[in-house]
Amino acid sequence: MGSVSVMTSWQPQEPSERSAVVDLSAVWHNVVRLTQLARGRKLIAVVKADAYGHGAPEVARTALAAGAHMLGTAHVSEAVALRNAGITAPVIAWLHTMSTDFDEALHRDVRLGVSGWEFDAVLQAARRTGVTAVVHLKLDSGLGRNGATPRQWPDLVERAARAQQEGLLTVEGVFTHLAVADEPGRPETQEQLDALTEAVRTARRAGLTPSLVHAANTPGLLSADQLADPDSMLRDAVRVGLGIYGLSPFEDRTPEEFGLIPAMTLRARVANVKAVPRDSGVSYGLSYRTARDTHLALIPLGYADGVPRVATGAPVRIGGRVYPVVGRIAMDQCVVDLALGRTVTPEGVPAGEPVVDEAVDPLVHVGDEAVLFGAGDHPSVTEWANAAGTINYEVVTRISPRVPREYTSHSHLTLGDVTVSRSASALAAHSLPQDPRPTRASDGEAFEQPNWTLTLHPGSAEDTQRIAERLAPHLHAGDLVMLNGELGAGKTTFTQGLGRGLGVREGIISPTFVLSRRHPNLPDGPRPGGPDLVHVDAYRLDTAADVDTIDLEDTLDTCVTVVEWGTSKVEHLSGSRLVVDFVRPQGVLPAAGEHPAAPTLAYQRHAGDVDGDDNHDGDVGDGAVAQALQALTDEWEGEEQDGDEPRTLILRGYGPRWSDRLDL
Ligand SMILES: *Cc1c(COP(=O)(O)O)cnc(C)c1O
Repeated sequence: MGSVSVMTSWQPQEPSERSAVVDLSAVWHNVVRLTQLARGRKLIAVVKADAYGHGAPEVARTALAAGAHMLGTAHVSEAVALRNAGITAPVIAWLHTMSTDFDEALHRDVRLGVSGWEFDAVLQAARRTGVTAVVHLKLDSGLGRNGATPRQWPDLVERAARAQQEGLLTVEGVFTHLAVADEPGRPETQEQLDALTEAVRTARRAGLTPSLVHAANTPGLLSADQLADPDSMLRDAVRVGLGIYGLSPFEDRTPEEFGLIPAMTLRARVANVKAVPRDSGVSYGLSYRTARDTHLALIPLGYADGVPRVATGAPVRIGGRVYPVVGRIAMDQCVVDLALGRTVTPEGVPAGEPVVDEAVDPLVHVGDEAVLFGAGDHPSVTEWANAAGTINYEVVTRISPRVPREYTSHSHLTLGDVTVSRSASALAAHSLPQDPRPTRASDGEAFEQPNWTLTLHPGSAEDTQRIAERLAPHLHAGDLVMLNGELGAGKTTFTQGLGRGLGVREGIISPTFVLSRRHPNLPDGPRPGGPDLVHVDAYRLDTAADVDTIDLEDTLDTCVTVVEWGTSKVEHLSGSRLVVDFVRPQGVLPAAGEHPAAPTLAYQRHAGDVDGDDNHDGDVGDGAVAQALQALTDEWEGEEQDGDEPRTLILRGYGPRWSDRLDL
């Protein structure tokens, strides 16, 4: 059910043997979602430690394309690696040693967090290189790592103010790092934030004018609304790592509760299945013995791959069941007992007692997809962390280089993707075993940075429409507008506003069933002689190649083209584009099955064809077919259709056409 069936139309690729599949659309979504939770504050995407094991250049490009303002790393060497990967966006590094190459940092335009001995080293580098250092002064407000203590702070800002006057450095930021933000309610967090406020005051008195004050890490950002004054946490920017990877820093809250999507799936193909008698020992030490005649399945991932050796008992999903790892986890492999499988409910929870039927007749076969952790109803990273007595941060970060990273980028970038990610086989089919780089990233198109970002908070559907109406006068023939957002997020409402502003024929409804519809300009409307509006739903188009089948290029130059679900499919059509992300306030993901059923869609498209409707001219407003389509659209989108709760709209301009910031 749901979009999983959409995927059956894809060309399944041979799934690779073992990999960590990183869903870059989840990263994209998480950055947009975190920006929303940060109430539009700037986002510093923390990509240290190879982006917590996810792959720093890929994650960095995606995060920047999704609107991140700056990248953060611990070491200068990590920041320089991003530069070597061709990334030119602002980067800050904050953990230095006596061997840190500050000259290179300045040459490569790396911002530096400074607070102690390295302050002088940075000044010397600035003198040597003739490059003004851009620094963020770090306050130790209680964590006890680096950072100047409140007692050292006045001296630090005095020296910084003098160096700034000499032109050796610019103090761009002031920051601190929180110690207990993952335990909301502990008083130390507010004390740390108050200390930061005081430190900024001192800095300003010394003549410094930091434009970026930042404190929040992921737990800080996600718990900001529990503070009396969330702004004291959010400041000018948030500095988040874990959240971008779609994980929750809290013991008792899942990523889904925050509207985040786990980005990494660790999976492998079952390497062996065999029958063994009762009381067979399993793995080193023979610490596990089978309770009955059963089958064992061998998973080719072990501690050399970063799977924690102590995580015996952790879940592995194969098909519709979850099996515990039994016996010790070895360097290269681990074992599950098929007599202990439990069926997974749609919520991903193993239900009831172990189903022992597989002891005799296994459902699992050599080559089957085994998922250790992932998104949706797969086992979670947190379950593995709990089994290993650690935190989810450590589990993903330690997945070793022996595990190839594969990148996927789903067609549409928001919450609906979770449904797609539910099917392990679909995920494998989606991976790119030959070329570990995302196709769009490697050609640099989809992952380029926006010229600007504009965040708006319409309070109602009417507001959304008014914003679109104000946008319309800025649109000309040849413009490409891409709308991203889950069902009911306001894409159709927005397009209706555009249509009104452009003065095109009314009757704009979701183009889901016809793929594309053209609304001709009205001679007696507000823009007589203006461009037509072509409204496209790319949801069922799997690739950029499929897009060519609907001949958008024929109308592109003469019309305004608005594409829903078009990310990574239609960017090639134009050198510039305006992208609008629609984000709903609640981080509640649609349940499985809430997504459209592909077979119905395919059938209805034929219904349109029978009527002789050209897809590009799907005449809305007359005929039984149109009525049927509208009825189906209503049924599909249900009551939710562009509901009236407040939204966040994030507009971004890409390419020369949108070099100037829009003011709406
Ligand atoms: C790692 C790190 C972060 C990111 O923390 P998350 O909890 O992953 O969001 C932010 N700031 C500093 C100084 C860090 O070292």
